[in-house]
Amino acid sequence: MDGFGLRLPTIQNWSCHSCSECCTRHVVEITEEERQRIVDQGWSDDDEFTEGTPVVVRDLGPFWNRRWRLGQKPNGACVFLDEQGLCRIHARFGEPTKPLACRVYPYAFHPQGRQVSVSLRYSCPSVVENKGRSVAEQESELKEMAVEVVPAGVTQAPAPGLRRTGDLDWLPFRQFVNSLEALMTPAEVPVATKLATAVRFIDMVSEANLDRLSDQQLADFVEIICGAARSEAEVAGESADGQNPPLSAAGRLLFRMLAAQYARNDSLSNWRTGLMGRFRLLRVGTRFALGNGRIPPLQDIDQPVTFDQLEEPFGGLTPEAEEMFTRYFRVKIRGLQFCGRAFFGFGLIEGFRSLALVFPSMLWLARFMVAADGRDRLETADVAKAIELADHYHGYTPQFNRHQYRWQVAMLARGGDIRKAIDWYSR
Ligand code: SF4
Repeated sequence: MDGFGLRLPTIQNWSCHSCSECCTRHVVEITEEERQRIVDQGWSDDDEFTEGTPVVVRDLGPFWNRRWRLGQKPNGACVFLDEQGLCRIHARFGEPTKPLACRVYPYAFHPQGRQVSVSLRYSCPSVVENKGRSVAEQESELKEMAVEVVPAGVTQAPAPGLRRTGDLDWLPFRQFVNSLEALMTPAEVPVATKLATAVRFIDMVSEANLDRLSDQQLADFVEIICGAARSEAEVAGESADGQNPPLSAAGRLLFRMLAAQYARNDSLSNWRTGLMGRFRLLRVGTRFALGNGRIPPLQDIDQPVTFDQLEEPFGGLTPEAEEMFTRYFRVKIRGLQFCGRAFFGFGLIEGFRSLALVFPSMLWLARFMVAADGRDRLETADVAKAIELADHYHGYTPQFNRHQYRWQVAMLARGGDIRKAIDWYSR
């Protein structure tokens, strides 16, 4: 392994609190070596596994390249999850014998030149709530983990670029990333304002022709447009009359289709539902495209909520929810968990627009859960749950690697609807 340092999300805390959420929601892919180790552990002869649920299953990927995963009970929970919410492999053979994916979660490692950046998945409730030890204090454990996870030659990996991999070297690329993080940092500025400003910054980057600029000229350019995006946001804030313009008609449709991707419930147990399942998905898709009447059941919630209800104000964000979102974006940006290898090879522009759209999508989902509960104000717990549910998908569902998704993001950006959605759903 080549030598590298870690770039840590120093504002984040995390320790596992054994809530078993990850063991009930995630499909755990395993290598051939891990499969053999589990088979050798003799679980199939164990009384606990005589109910017919296989401990390992080979059904991931196309038929010509099937991959293994851990078995799951009919409710989607890992077959090794015991009644106390603990891992049987861990209990009987020790933590190091668990599959690598289970040991690494919720951490994610991404190359960043001579460094490897560390990010976290917010599908873990302890990450969302910032509970546990400071990540900075875990540096030596994370280094050991990185040695196992990070592929050889990682320091040679090209930067994700602005539009495509390698169209910018790491040094100037990092200036753009640092500016995005700086725009998202001030604690006294509402997260919606910071995010809309960062999206404006990205819009300006996308409009500029940066070919043939030296590193110094690029650095100057980044500083200038960062300041311009901030000034624009201040002017817009001063001239605002308290009214948020709604999304365009096309923007509303595109956004609803996007929000549906984050609001669905995709455990293995309910996406392997054959023809009927596909028919149901098509019907749900049509309802979202029409966007009127009652919203189809989402996340196993089947209370009557209409599309129109979610367009009303929901009382804004609590200070705690503001903090969660600010930390979320800072961790994702610093950890590069929005572009390059972490997000289907997207460049910085497209990747950041996708990340920004997570915010209104999470708030749309939170509104749905609140309305289904007969309330009309967002509480911190609603936002925390929506972050946890939606982040489960971002960058991990193949839907986001489709041409249709990229087109949706581009169209929303072109119509100025990303910034409108940020403001509209945060009110
Ligand atoms: S979701 Fe997080 S806190 Fe819960 S068991 Fe998994 S790693 Fe631990």
